[in-house]
Amino acid sequence: MKTAAVEQAAQIIREGGIAAFPTETVYGLGADAFQPFAVARIFEVKRRPFFDPLIVHIARREDISGLVREWPEEAETLMDRFWPGPLTLVLPKTDRIPDIVTAGLPTVGIRMPRHPLALELVRRAGGAIAAPSANRFGRTSPTTAAHVREQLGNGVDFILDGGPCEVGVESTILTFEEGRPVLLRPGGTPLEEIEEAIGPVRKGSVAFGSRPQAPGMLERHYATHTPLWVIPEGGPPPTERGRWGLLAFRRAREGYAAVEILTPCGDLREAAARLFAAMRRLDEEGLDAIAAELVTDHGLGRAINDRLLRAAARQTA
Ligand code: AMP
Ligand code: MG
Repeated sequence: MKTAAVEQAAQIIREGGIAAFPTETVYGLGADAFQPFAVARIFEVKRRPFFDPLIVHIARREDISGLVREWPEEAETLMDRFWPGPLTLVLPKTDRIPDIVTAGLPTVGIRMPRHPLALELVRRAGGAIAAPSANRFGRTSPTTAAHVREQLGNGVDFILDGGPCEVGVESTILTFEEGRPVLLRPGGTPLEEIEEAIGPVRKGSVAFGSRPQAPGMLERHYATHTPLWVIPEGGPPPTERGRWGLLAFRRAREGYAAVEILTPCGDLREAAARLFAAMRRLDEEGLDAIAAELVTDHGLGRAINDRLLRAAARQTA
């Protein structure tokens, strides 16, 4: 454990600064959830619109009672089964959570990360860190400390390096409407496992092209600078001119100037862990466009396809 570095990051956060830190999903940019000015700096540095709420990270189960007013039994079941881990629960907030954290919403997204450095940091920093992914708003999420440095560099007070992220895609986000579970974002905890634990879950507004139901569930997100198009696996190469790159699920194909393969053996965990770094590498190739193959749409594949479809979505505003 890098205790000295964790303590340094924790001190910065306690004193109202912002620090990037590793979680098992992606790197987060954290501030003390109870200090609105510190939280405001996260939005500034990321250039994130204030209508996009942050997730609050905790390290001890008992801490949720100060943050959340009430939660259904199913939420309890999910916490038992999936915390610490990549599952965020959106629940009615108490007044202790500043409005800036939740973008004025009456609910707050809470999760307990499973990365040991993240847990230790949250403990030392006071118990509740508000953190979005540590990237510029709308851009590819960071899965290494170097990615954070490239995008946010001098804007943050400290970067805690914990190596590459194990899961590689953000947490699954779930809420309850009239007591019924609703999926707001597919992510690192497979929907199938959640349904096994609590029964059927309604899919929220995550479907591609649908209107965002909660702030922050924007159609275009995770975007590369190079235009990205999704194609079916093994689809024919694009007919448009120019240098195309391929983000391949399992196999390389002819006709591309650069290729990144996510997982030669078709392992969705490996694909998720490699996704954002592969998107960044293709983005650095000076290509005219990137074709990204959709992956098998179950388990972590749902999260991967969600990220690809959003990275490919055209700006509508
Ligand atoms: P990020 O940490 O960058 O993955 O962003 C966190 C995301 O969590 C936001 O963009 C929202 O989609 C979602 N989120 C956080 N809090 C809430 C909430 N109270 N209600 C609905 N969605 C939320
Ligand atoms: Mg993000």
